[in-house]
Amino acid sequence: MKYYSLNHNAPKVSFQEAVIQGLASDKGLYFPESITALPQSFFDTIENLSNEEIAFEAIQQFVGDEIPTETLKQIISETLCFDFPVVPVENGIYSLELFHGPTMAFKDVGARFMSRCLGYFNKDKKDNTNTVLVATSGDTGGAVASGFLAVQGVEVVILYPSGKVSDIQERQLTTLGQNIKALEVDGVFDDCQDMVKKAFLDESLKHKNLTSANSINIARWLPQMFYFFFAYKALKFHNKPLVFSCPSGNFGNICAGIIAKKMGLNIEHFVASTNVNDTVPRFLTNGIYDPKPSIATISNAMDVGNPSNFIRIQEMYGNDLAQFKKDFSSYTYNDEETLEALKNIYKTDGYIAEPHGAVGYLGLKKELENYPNAIGVFLETAHPIKFLDVVEPALGIKLPIPTQIESVLNKDKVSTKIKTYDEMKAFLG
Ligand SMILES: *Cc1c(COP(=O)(O)O)cnc(C)c1O
Repeated sequence: MKYYSLNHNAPKVSFQEAVIQGLASDKGLYFPESITALPQSFFDTIENLSNEEIAFEAIQQFVGDEIPTETLKQIISETLCFDFPVVPVENGIYSLELFHGPTMAFKDVGARFMSRCLGYFNKDKKDNTNTVLVATSGDTGGAVASGFLAVQGVEVVILYPSGKVSDIQERQLTTLGQNIKALEVDGVFDDCQDMVKKAFLDESLKHKNLTSANSINIARWLPQMFYFFFAYKALKFHNKPLVFSCPSGNFGNICAGIIAKKMGLNIEHFVASTNVNDTVPRFLTNGIYDPKPSIATISNAMDVGNPSNFIRIQEMYGNDLAQFKKDFSSYTYNDEETLEALKNIYKTDGYIAEPHGAVGYLGLKKELENYPNAIGVFLETAHPIKFLDVVEPALGIKLPIPTQIESVLNKDKVSTKIKTYDEMKAFLG
């Protein structure tokens, strides 16, 4: 499979090159040259397949022959080492729980898949040949740290804003050691992000072979399509149309869902539910794409003013705005509405959500008014414990600490404090 740059000013590359580079030389995102539908027999018998078998069928065409079948199967099996339950919440509404992985964030799947692909491509190289440089406002860092731990030939440097991530999140990025290094930046998330962007453009850092580990990278983005196949398998027995609502920030998750639909997965409609960072809902209303600086909210993993994957979604729909609106809606909710939903889901349904899932729930409820016969699924993208500062006071409960989290709480934090870009550069060496 070849990948082309969405800026159309860079050569086509292989899967391996796209994974290693992250972004094309013209700064465009990579996109697969073709998306081939899976045979109807696959969907007819999907209930007989394991998650690993489904994932293999789904991802195979995007990897091509660049990773041997047995190795790819091994990578998938290490990626999917946990469950993806589809939990009934209300009549006709399900929560697709994506948070049962090692760091309790859905980003575990993409991070584990990407790290193992990079590890395979580096298998014959001796030194640290790639440096993954990533800025995090919380959840990405932990998933990347855990996913890349001990992967051969890859060093990981995570930048996070000092004092601005939760205690649990900080420990998930600073306690693992080995090939994982944490830089504690005296500043806010945007400062971290700016340093990372500058580093990617810095010719004097070429020798570090920097790559990103956010959903810009195809190996972190594409495996997210698996969730939609798993949910379809679990809900097929209803024999009703499916509507998915994704709490969206950079729109990687929902974009992977649209790829799954292109591959023949029978999804009736997608909802991108956002917090007040509403660039896409505004676009759907007035047709103008007008990104704004991000605004801080209680669903902070979605505080994105200019969603990087939206251009991939536009690529799939081209100029066909009518078809796009037929398949896709987007709604925005503020913190007050989110808290209200969090409380209602608990009071009425006895289900403990967290702020991102609650935003997804709200968008789903709204869209189901248009699809009264459909089954609705909202993606629950993090475990409530990751947002206990919001969830516990809102619901008036104390959450038990899951074992995955407990294991980092008694480890000691190791980080290097920095303030400037030059200090970061000196650290990278
Ligand atoms: C990253 C993240 C999101 C947003 O996902 P995108 O693919 O960027 O839209 C939503 N919820 C949580 C908890 C996240 O960590």
